[in-house]
Amino acid sequence: MGYVRPFDPWRVTSLCTCPFKYTVNPYTGCSHGCLYCYASSYIKRFFEPRPKADFLRVVSRDLRRIPPGSIINVSSSSDPYEPLELKYGYTRSLLDMIAGKYVVEIVTKSDIVSRDADLLMKGSSVVSMTITTLDRSLAAKLEPRSPPPERRLEAIRKLSELGIPVVVRLDPLIPGLNDSLDSVKGVLEAAATAGVKHVVCSTYKLKPDNLKRMVNEFPELIPTLRELYLSKGEKIHGYLYASPSYRLRSLTVVRDQAHKLGLTFAPCREGFPQLIDEKVSCDGTHLAFKSKRD
Ligand code: SF4
Repeated sequence: MGYVRPFDPWRVTSLCTCPFKYTVNPYTGCSHGCLYCYASSYIKRFFEPRPKADFLRVVSRDLRRIPPGSIINVSSSSDPYEPLELKYGYTRSLLDMIAGKYVVEIVTKSDIVSRDADLLMKGSSVVSMTITTLDRSLAAKLEPRSPPPERRLEAIRKLSELGIPVVVRLDPLIPGLNDSLDSVKGVLEAAATAGVKHVVCSTYKLKPDNLKRMVNEFPELIPTLRELYLSKGEKIHGYLYASPSYRLRSLTVVRDQAHKLGLTFAPCREGFPQLIDEKVSCDGTHLAFKSKRD
């Protein structure tokens, strides 16, 4: 199998409401070092990122079998704009091949993405920027080698001004860390002011390795995590989810704040279809199809 593959989280789609799309990761692993990262549980040496072998040749061969107009996600298991991109440029070369021919969905927490605005403007595209908190010191602990939140907001501003639709991913929402009303309001208001149109939110899911990192950095969370996850949570596809009542309550708060700001909302892989706004794709790809540049 090549590098451009159908996006199929967990090989089952019962909780994933995304439209059918492909996904491609120019790099294996990621240097951002997010404590809550899930990909580190299934990819070896995850925090030692490396470029995919023979990436551009394999991708150009893969693209021969992908129908033009399909959605291609970049990326689902790494950040396509981690610092390695400045050395190898695989993401930019990939965009050069697919922009204008496919619908491009970028998922990142790096401001390097704004470098590629020229390519993203060539056709239908949407950028999904993750911001979990505006608190710089909390972000530095949670996502130690990622660009700080203000640089991500600046990238949102630049892309939005150019007419490239941007989604904010408030992901993950972590009990006791970034789920207060003030924190949620702060992120959404800043994102809306910068030009975001749609919000995606997902609660923190436990895996043994990410839990170890989290409690090592935030030991004060242990009682909350024990109650919401170990006592009242549920296991879904190998992930330990928080209790359904916590998830519904906290996601509803995020949705209501999004609506107050005139933003659309969808949860991600949570199992509450009633929270997904009408006429939106949960991942925000609907915005790519109706970009004002079209
Ligand atoms: S940016 Fe994404 S892939 Fe990279 S470490 Fe953070 S959560 Fe994992």
